[in-house]
Amino acid sequence: MIPFLDLQAINAAQRGELLAAFERVLDSGWYVLGQEVQAFEREYAAWCGAAHAVGVANGLEALSLVLRAWDIGAGDEVIVPSNTYIATWLAATHVGATPVPVEPEERSFNIDPARIEAAITPRTRALLPVHLYGRPAEMAPILEIARRHGLKVLEDGAQAHGATYRGQRLGALGDATAWSFYPGKNLGALGDGGAITTDDAALAERLRTLRNYGSQRKYHNEVIGFNSRLDELQAALLRVKLPQLQAGNVQRSAIAQQYLAGLAGLPGLVLPDAPLAAGCSSAWHLFVVRHAQRDRLAAALPAAGVGTVIHYPVAPHLQPAYAPLGRLAGSLPISERLHAEVLSLPIGPTQTAAQTQAVIDAVGCAVRALAESSSHAAQPA
Ligand SMILES: *Cc1c(COP(=O)(O)O)cnc(C)c1O
Repeated sequence: MIPFLDLQAINAAQRGELLAAFERVLDSGWYVLGQEVQAFEREYAAWCGAAHAVGVANGLEALSLVLRAWDIGAGDEVIVPSNTYIATWLAATHVGATPVPVEPEERSFNIDPARIEAAITPRTRALLPVHLYGRPAEMAPILEIARRHGLKVLEDGAQAHGATYRGQRLGALGDATAWSFYPGKNLGALGDGGAITTDDAALAERLRTLRNYGSQRKYHNEVIGFNSRLDELQAALLRVKLPQLQAGNVQRSAIAQQYLAGLAGLPGLVLPDAPLAAGCSSAWHLFVVRHAQRDRLAAALPAAGVGTVIHYPVAPHLQPAYAPLGRLAGSLPISERLHAEVLSLPIGPTQTAAQTQAVIDAVGCAVRALAESSSHAAQPA
């Protein structure tokens, strides 16, 4: 059996160090906003090449706290990709703003910069590109459009720790980048966690206040704040895992190259092989293929011992939660087609080349069988 992601193996590889970090926090007697969070913030900011990092409770709140810090709220619009995890949209909704979807470039899965300006209105306040599946969004034109229209840029980096854009790690390209440390992300805690990186010192200060009841000094509340803190234990565990992140990404990239070579030329299978510009690299959070008969392909793989996941089966605008926006089926056709066709194959830092080859064999077998059965079906009776 090749699991989609073997979190147990990933964390077992650092068992001794993780236990030592747990004991350090246990024995410290200090569990929220202390030295571990401060140290992790310093280390993660440096790793990303950003001036500041602010630890928060999770990725969704990392996104929504930034929008709140910019006073984005009721009556405002935030431009989001039509195809993303729903958290990106929820961040806008949670501050009272309206998420305005823009369709992706089909080959890169990322927001299409050429479609952004048509979605800008006098109410637009921010662009919220997502580096989906670990691949960096095309930031140069996005930043240019934002500058021209006086808009903020908040990047959703939840799937892209360590991805690079034009020679630079993500984390300081836009005005702020939001991160998730959900256990399955490339940098994952053993529970929930999140952070914001930014070069803007005033924004970082405001976020530190907002995450902690609107207070910098205990029992003195300057603004209406939240309780959204990264805890000491998760920060200590993340400090153990951060030094392994680059090696994990290198392993993911090797798996992706093995897939791209091994799965090339299979009938009806579309690979994530859109070329990246010089100095750009994916964090390969997910390896996502497309097939017109995705559900039949997905159904064939468990029998061959291959675990897969669909990221994501239903587009945000077609979720019942977003029915009030009134965006009907057919209104965002590229995103809808992608949601019908995508399938994520196993990828992770502990996956071996032999396991990857077994996935290639199983997918090849299933895809050829689908091609045969549809060519038979196409023959006249
Ligand atoms: C995981 C994820 C989030 C949310 O992160 P949580 O820590 O689970 O709240 C946001 N955006 C994207 C693209 C994600 O993949």
